[in-house]
Amino acid sequence: MAEKEKLDMFCYQCSQTARGTGCTVKGVCGKEATVARLQDNLLLATKGMAAYLYHARELGYTDTKIDAFLERAFYSTFTNVNFDAEDFVNLAVEAGKMNIRTMQLLKKAHIETYGEPEPTKVQTGTVKGQGIIATGHGLKALGELLKQTEQTGINVYTHSELLPAHGYPGLKKYKHLVGNLGKAWFDQKQLFSKYPVAILGTSNCVLIPKEDYRDRMFTTGPARLPGVQHITGYDYTPVIQKAQSLPELEEKPGDVILTTGFSKSVVLSLKDKIKHLVQTGKINHFFLVGGCDSPLKKAVYFREFVQSLPKNTVVLTLACGKFRINDLNLGEIEGIPRLIDLGQCNDAIVAVEIAEALAELFGMGINELPLTLVLSWMEQKAVAILWSLLALGIKGIYLGPILPAWVNDDILKVLKEKYDLRLISNPDQDIEQILKLK
Ligand code: SF4
Ligand code: SF4
Repeated sequence: MAEKEKLDMFCYQCSQTARGTGCTVKGVCGKEATVARLQDNLLLATKGMAAYLYHARELGYTDTKIDAFLERAFYSTFTNVNFDAEDFVNLAVEAGKMNIRTMQLLKKAHIETYGEPEPTKVQTGTVKGQGIIATGHGLKALGELLKQTEQTGINVYTHSELLPAHGYPGLKKYKHLVGNLGKAWFDQKQLFSKYPVAILGTSNCVLIPKEDYRDRMFTTGPARLPGVQHITGYDYTPVIQKAQSLPELEEKPGDVILTTGFSKSVVLSLKDKIKHLVQTGKINHFFLVGGCDSPLKKAVYFREFVQSLPKNTVVLTLACGKFRINDLNLGEIEGIPRLIDLGQCNDAIVAVEIAEALAELFGMGINELPLTLVLSWMEQKAVAILWSLLALGIKGIYLGPILPAWVNDDILKVLKEKYDLRLISNPDQDIEQILKLK
């Protein structure tokens, strides 16, 4: 904490700003550091929501209630509008609720457009022929790319958060969607250098490219990169032409086959069996381990955590944090896979709905379920999701790899006292604590 207190706040949004550079201790307007930090927190959560709303709108789905909340949230952070710390905590909780609504909207958009995901095996090697790697979160962009590359002989690969696309019937129907390459977003530079294919960045989590592949990279939607051709709309002809000008990849199967596409319907179709296995002690505990991954060294925790779990536990996962663990063979418990990939970060809504259904099945509240959330965060969607989980009253979440930098002692006190939020420590210690408590 001592380190963080060096910069209590930072705001330079109006002309009164201290020394003409920035208010860093207290606002010239009187804004306290904790209020400034809570304003930042609210803006970060709403940014996360905006990303999901963008992808829902791409598919023709909008919600004026969410738009109205966003206006109110942004307005509250203007100069001389709201100096009330407690109200900003309430607004963050409201943002969490609105983000649930947003994730529901996006899930509806995905399912109504591409069908509900089904468990699907995904290859991780290359297939002989020219190729395109699509990275990011944009199912709409990927769907259009698949349509336009049909019959061209080009193979399409997903990277990172597009892995869950393989589970959607409306996307997996394309035979030239041949596999997933690489892991979470931060291996891009090494991965894109390695494979001489065209690359399409469809959303956030694109990295400034290395020179050796800059001319074969393209962006679309919200993504933009220096010196990289941007495609407005969904005509991917330049990407296809680039792929056709590049050498063929060799046939080289990957070391692992991944499984993705566990939807709410698929998991809940197993609910009677799950209930029986829990009641007979064959499943002792469920964990949700995932979230936004980052290259921070401390993030190795999440793999070690899952590797150290007893065999009578089931792990649900989602978002790019899954790549820390989805190559592990955790086996099954009487036909129930011990590792269940629910999809992208916005599929946190699937996890929530499954948890709610299990709570109903066992006749208890979510906090009484033998379920613990162990989440990694990196960027603003994760902030929105964290507030969604807190808004649902979920307590005892383990968060890592680090405490968000805008959380000061005051905010941490609220998060701990009201929500029992815990920071990850070491896997064995945390597992022991979790299994003892529940
Ligand atoms: S709004 Fe307040 S805290 Fe922000 S720059 Fe202006 S005076 Fe400083
Ligand atoms: S889950 Fe988060 S960190 Fe990972 S690719 Fe998506 S937005 Fe980026």
